[in-house]
Amino acid sequence: MEGAPFDVLVIGAGPAGLAAAMFTARRGLRTCVLSKDIGGQAALTDTIENYPGIASVSGRSLVETMRGQATRDGADWQFGEAISIVSDASLHLVRTAEGTTIAARTIILAFGLTPNDLDCLGEAPLRGRGLYYSAVADAPMQDGKTVAVVGGGNAAVTAALELAPRAARVYCIHRREEFRAEQVLLDRLLALPNVVCCRSTVVAEVRGDDRVRELVLAPATDGASRVLAVDSVFVQIGYSAKTNWLDGVVARNARREVMIDRDCQTNAPGIFAAGDITDISYKQAVISAGEGVKAALQAFKYLQTQAGRPAVMFDWEVKTV
Ligand SMILES: Cc1cc2nc3c(=O)[nH]c(=O)nc-3n(C[C@H](O)[C@H](O)[C@H](O)COP(=O)(O)OP(=O)(O)OC[C@H]3O[C@@H](n4cnc5c(N)ncnc54)[C@H](O)[C@@H]3O)c2cc1C
Repeated sequence: MEGAPFDVLVIGAGPAGLAAAMFTARRGLRTCVLSKDIGGQAALTDTIENYPGIASVSGRSLVETMRGQATRDGADWQFGEAISIVSDASLHLVRTAEGTTIAARTIILAFGLTPNDLDCLGEAPLRGRGLYYSAVADAPMQDGKTVAVVGGGNAAVTAALELAPRAARVYCIHRREEFRAEQVLLDRLLALPNVVCCRSTVVAEVRGDDRVRELVLAPATDGASRVLAVDSVFVQIGYSAKTNWLDGVVARNARREVMIDRDCQTNAPGIFAAGDITDISYKQAVISAGEGVKAALQAFKYLQTQAGRPAVMFDWEVKTV
């Protein structure tokens, strides 16, 4: 175990974790952020235009600013992947895949949802460089381009419908013969002149240099592969809450999301959670950041109470008379 326990260990450095770290550090709590990367899903998008107060910003720039704020306020950083938590009455020990153990009095789980990968050659280096996981954010940048959408459900078809009016051509690549999307959406899609469906087809490789240039497509069953020139690829094959490593630690729902109350408290004392990994209904950057702040304030309140100190949160807090 490295060093004295932290007051707060935040797991994940997306908008939820970064906002949480800033707020716990500003309360004077010894804060460490453990994360696989900086920015999470928000860093995967070219431009965010719906973060209130900021007209337009690259996802990378937004999260780097948030990281700078947390660092300025005193947060420490450790890169790694949390793989287990062992708790006693007053301390939590978090083990990482890299072999370290971090001790903390409270934990904020903020490790987001994980987009399901294509799981093919060439994918990792081209993420965010023409290979996207959300059409909501990146469709406006596709004017006149040749794009591919991978997936067969509502998300994929909706993405293709959003892209088609802008793009020169949209290839819809689905590993099965039948799309799973609602018929009404599918009918709309198939009526569009610039949409080409590649059924029973899988992506074997994404190729490019500084950005995506082409896909290698293969039949879902045996057969010869072919190369398709594209400018962008939208992977729409779902997101998963990868929380198996929390078995026996915190309660989760049927979708494996961490269950929280309205103050971001899980069922385990001293463990809080925020953002996309939780069972909240809406998954957006600004919501995750707000939830991160709530979790931070609740962790502060918890530590104050544990220490027998009054948990005064704000000077302007409403007092009941
Ligand atoms: C391509 C794309 C575009 C988007 N565009 C917009 C948009 O325009 N506007 C908007 O509001 N929202 C957008 N979203 C949604 C938004 O990005 C998410 O709702 C938001 O990032 C969720 O924040 P989070 O902090 O909860 O999780 P995430 O951003 O997913 O961050 C999770 C963090 O946890 C880390 N992590 C995961 N597992 C572990 C582990 N075991 N140990 C340590 N670290 C771990 C990850 O590396 C990551 O740093 C977009 C999402 C995507 C994918």
